[in-house]
Formats: sequence, C-alpha cells, structure tokens
Amino acid sequence: MAAEKARAIVIRTFPFGESSCVVTLFTREYGKLRALAKGAWRPKSGFDAALDLLSICQVLVLRKSTDALDLLTEACLEHRFRVGRSQAAFLGGMDVAELLDTLTADGDPQPELFDVAHATLRTLSAPRPAHDHDASTTELTDGLVRALVAHTELAMLRLVGHAPALVRCAECGGGVEGGSRIAFGMLDGGVLCERCRSGKRAVVSISADCLAALQLLAGTPDAWRSLALPPPIDGEVRAVMNTMLSHLLGRRPRVAPLLQPRSRPGTSRSS
Ligand SMILES: [Zn+2]
Repeated sequence: MAAEKARAIVIRTFPFGESSCVVTLFTREYGKLRALAKGAWRPKSGFDAALDLLSICQVLVLRKSTDALDLLTEACLEHRFRVGRSQAAFLGGMDVAELLDTLTADGDPQPELFDVAHATLRTLSAPRPAHDHDASTTELTDGLVRALVAHTELAMLRLVGHAPALVRCAECGGGVEGGSRIAFGMLDGGVLCERCRSGKRAVVSISADCLAALQLLAGTPDAWRSLALPPPIDGEVRAVMNTMLSHLLGRRPRVAPLLQPRSRPGTSRSS
C-alpha cells in the first residue's frame, strides 16, 4: 500500500503504549483522520516536534480501509504553534482544534475549512514584530484575538452549513425590525422577526451593536483587525457564540466558554 501525502493540523494527541501516540489530524486532502505514530515520543523519534498540538505539518500516512487506525510514517514540521504568554491566543488555537474535531466527520475532505483554520492558527502564532518597518505583523490584543476567533468560528459554521441568519429572519426570510434589541433564536439558527419569535424556545435578546458586530465578523474577512468593541459588546458577542455552539454541538464546548472576557465591576453583561 502506498503512503499518501497530506498537509495536516494536529488537533489531538493521545498516548499509546510506552512511547507511541494516536494523533487526530485534520488534513487538507482527506479531512479528519486518526493515525498511530509509532515511537513518536522516543527521544530521537523522526517525528520530532511535528506532532505537538496545533502544529502544521506535512505527513505521510498509510490509510487503512478497515476500522483500524491509519499509520503515520512521517511527519515534517511546517509551522509550530507558539503564542508566547498570550492565554487568549492559546485558547483561540484550542478552540479551532475542538471545532475541527467536533464539526467534521472522519474522512470528509473540506479544504476550505482547512484553509480557514490554518490561516487563523498562523495569525495567532505569528511572531512578534522584529522590525519596526514590518507592518504585516501587529501585536494581537486579547480583544483582537476574540474578534479573530469569533470571525473564524462564523466562517467554520458557514463552511459546514450552519451559518446563522444575521440579516433576515431565520424562519420566514423577512426583514427584521431594527430596534435596540433583536430576538435571536438559538434553535432556529439566527435572528427572528417579531411575528416569528412568539412561541419559540431558546430565544435570546441581543443588542443591535452585538448583531452589527456579528454581521461584520461573518461578512468581511479582515473586519476583525480593526474592530475595537467596547467591553460589554465584546462579552456579548462571545456569549452569543458560546450559546450558539452549545446548541449546535448538543453540549457545552470545552474551550469556547474560557474565551469569555472577565466582566469588570460596573459593566453589566446582557444575556
Ligand atoms: Zn420571520
């Protein structure tokens, strides 16, 4: 059997025996797969740092046609996930990994989803600017990290067919009256007009500012870079994303809630 070459993001690793591990990879070519890396954790293993969590690497995999694990024969590190002291950036990367794992089925190639996740991981772990004239790398504040993560989550949801309706009513497709607060149906997948909201379960009321931020993050690729959300809106966007993901996954995600900014005394967070 010939080994297949793929570009992969390491989204989970699990020890196996004394020195081997089972890795879950999200590959551009084959989607999600689980493979055994024999001797990966031996001191002089050929895998080196390529199998660290959130590493991006080139791999050679022997695909098994049965339920057996694939066999990883080679992994060559392309990019290592390094975020320094930024806990927000670390959690952002872990959130991307969890969503790649939970939103996809094994062996279902989704190259666009790979590209979105890949771009975000590279941005989160971009090196700090070494030269002043290097304008391509800017310091990521925690607020910017949260905006990038929400943008990424919305892009991932769109690619797996779960984009929330943010402009027109999720139920009837009609216009949604622009008041200061708008009904958002978690089970209906988006905003609801006055007529459709009555009698619905799991409807939350979100602020017009929060909806505007979500529209921008979902619709404009680089909008997150210049988004400076006031703390209450920043927190509300995160809370809405967390609730949305919980409803979609059927359980509370492990990482996303940890991205919730701590509300400061004196600021109230709407729910
Ligand atoms: Zn409606």
